[in-house]
Amino acid sequence: KDEYKTRRIRPLDPTVVNKIAAGEVIERPENAVKELLENALDAGSTSIEVLLKDGGLKLLQISDNGSGIHYDDLPYLCQRFSTSKLEKFEDLQQMRTFGFRGEALASISHVAKVTITTKREGDVHAWRAFYVDGKLAPLSPSNSPAPQPCAGKQGTVITVEDLFYNVPGRKAALKHGSEEYRRVLNLVQKYAIHSRMVSFTCKKVGETVASVSLSSRLSTKDKIRHVYGTLAVKHLKVLNIAEGATNVESFHADGLISSADYEDKKSVFILFINNRLVESIELKTAIDETYSKFLHKGASYFVYLSLVMKPEQLDVNVHPSKRIVHFLYDHEIFSAISEKLVDLLQTTDEQRSYAMQT
Ligand code: ADP
Ligand code: MG
Repeated sequence: KDEYKTRRIRPLDPTVVNKIAAGEVIERPENAVKELLENALDAGSTSIEVLLKDGGLKLLQISDNGSGIHYDDLPYLCQRFSTSKLEKFEDLQQMRTFGFRGEALASISHVAKVTITTKREGDVHAWRAFYVDGKLAPLSPSNSPAPQPCAGKQGTVITVEDLFYNVPGRKAALKHGSEEYRRVLNLVQKYAIHSRMVSFTCKKVGETVASVSLSSRLSTKDKIRHVYGTLAVKHLKVLNIAEGATNVESFHADGLISSADYEDKKSVFILFINNRLVESIELKTAIDETYSKFLHKGASYFVYLSLVMKPEQLDVNVHPSKRIVHFLYDHEIFSAISEKLVDLLQTTDEQRSYAMQT
């Protein structure tokens, strides 16, 4: 103990700093996949494929057909706080992209080995580059770290191998590949349900049939049926709050919610705000409370909501994982949603009593 009394303050070594930061952004394969999916969506992809080995712990690979990355940008791709999406701090106020801090790929490269193959429209061939600890590294010891030309389709393939190979504690805590796979699958399914213009697949290495394959041609309801089953879609109603219906400028919401007749045993709550999958305990509580007035105790519900608000009203820079967001006027928004839910749930009851009378 006495030793600490005499110790002096010193800045941490940058590699230590980067590793600590990486641990906050990437907690498990699911976080890495979310960042990579969002990058693919930011790049304008219409088709995204996810491939996993051991739940993403051994390998996780995301292939997209988006814009690709400029050759000259490759040296900075995994450099911390390097981004093509944000220039000034003020831009944070109106982010229209998922990414903005240039932290994801850097973080991943500090806790895993990253290989990237990318080709832009009009490029004659693709480039392949390998990264360790934020920097370009040789693919094999005899090579130079410079990106190598190779064959490839337009878009980007990012391969992440041996996640947490250099963070033994974290690696030991994530023993169950099947649990990690379940989480990743869940995430991909939710993005597939929400992203109308994008097709998604998710599969394990060696599997011929994907665990999930949802074409952009399917309707939202059909995607939900594929993922959650026929029982889940049997009693879904459309929720819509039009722009101008509340006092919150530009706010509007869309979604599908189950009526009181919902029969599935498990509750599902999917929330997107400005197209980003987020969590909100407050909104979940408000929804729980509203449903509890219409359902018998312990009954479940299905709620998929997509809220859209002005980017200025939303703060996504609250948490390293960007999973938790803060927004202005949350109380107005929550009560507008609860009111709408009551409306929709009431109609069912009326219809039911009407049906019983006749
Ligand atoms: P951010 O998304 O916050 O900018 P990232 O570390 O996730 O930070 O990505 C760094 C940069 O790499 C992005 O700004 C983008 O220019 C580029 N990038 C990453 N993934 C892709 C992709 N799939 N397609 C095209 N560009 C990408
Ligand atoms: Mg990103």
